[in-house]
Amino acid sequence: MTRLVPALCLLVLTACGDQTGTPANETEAGQARVVVYTSRQPYLIEPLFERYTARTGVAIDFASDNEASLIERIAAEGERTQADLFMTVDAGNLWHAAERGLLQPAGSDALTKRIPAALADDQARWYGLSVRARTIVYHPDRVDSSELSSYEDLADERWAGRLCLRTSRKVYNQSLVALLIEHHGEERAEEVVRGWVANLATNPYSSDTQTIEAVAAGQCDVAIVNSYYLGRKLADDPDYPVELFWANQGSTGVHVNISGAGITRHAPRPDQARALLEWLASEEAQAEFAERNLEFPANPVIESRGLVASWGEYRADDTPLTVAGERQAQAVRLMDRAGYR
Ligand code: FE
Repeated sequence: MTRLVPALCLLVLTACGDQTGTPANETEAGQARVVVYTSRQPYLIEPLFERYTARTGVAIDFASDNEASLIERIAAEGERTQADLFMTVDAGNLWHAAERGLLQPAGSDALTKRIPAALADDQARWYGLSVRARTIVYHPDRVDSSELSSYEDLADERWAGRLCLRTSRKVYNQSLVALLIEHHGEERAEEVVRGWVANLATNPYSSDTQTIEAVAAGQCDVAIVNSYYLGRKLADDPDYPVELFWANQGSTGVHVNISGAGITRHAPRPDQARALLEWLASEEAQAEFAERNLEFPANPVIESRGLVASWGEYRADDTPLTVAGERQAQAVRLMDRAGYR
């Protein structure tokens, strides 16, 4: 579903009103501008964009929609696009945009310095701006944390009828399975996924939130979700009866993914796009960028604070996230074969 924000209306008017096809590099009031197409919810990014404008005088117009629609839109607009920056979640999505030829290398030493290589494209076409961990959550009345260890272990038959998962259609699970394939090979990864399916307490849910609620309600005892969804529950209710466990600390590290952005191939204002991207990766913006969604900063100089910090340090899987894109199709086929719906 398309969600139009006021900035988009402005965008459409500007694009439609300009018969020469020349992009407007300034607002009507003569202010420099940059245009972002984003699948992130406006409340997560608007306060930061406002801070950037206050600091630099550069106006940010943004259009919100789901990532698939935005990718199609940037492709359809081609050289006439107004988008300077494409911002979304999951390396799998950013990888797709890059593969379609819709992004260009950022050519920025500042970004290379601020963002670890594993959280960025090897051709610099996209960069992670926040880190999300997809890990194990459990009901503390029915599971002791000493029983938990890894994603692979959740395939063991002692979890029969006790596991909840989100649908395999979600890119988050496709990326997780892509990394399982990378670590173990296809055969072993399929064995794990088949084990999960055999252990399911109910059909997969359509959201991480529903999955967590099923654990709280006693439908199941353990689940695999992104930590910020549990963070939202705990922010509302500190006694919420679901706890977090850092998966795979003794092996591959917990599976992390990113939200991130890249400069579009035909960005009318690439310098403005690069400056905004560099600022979002800077110390000034990183803590807030991560905290708004209870994620982790991508720039390792910044430490997490508050609720998120209370989960303690974790070791992250440091496999380059380009793997999530490269092995996505393979992961989707594997999950289908394994009967993971
Ligand atoms: Fe999410």
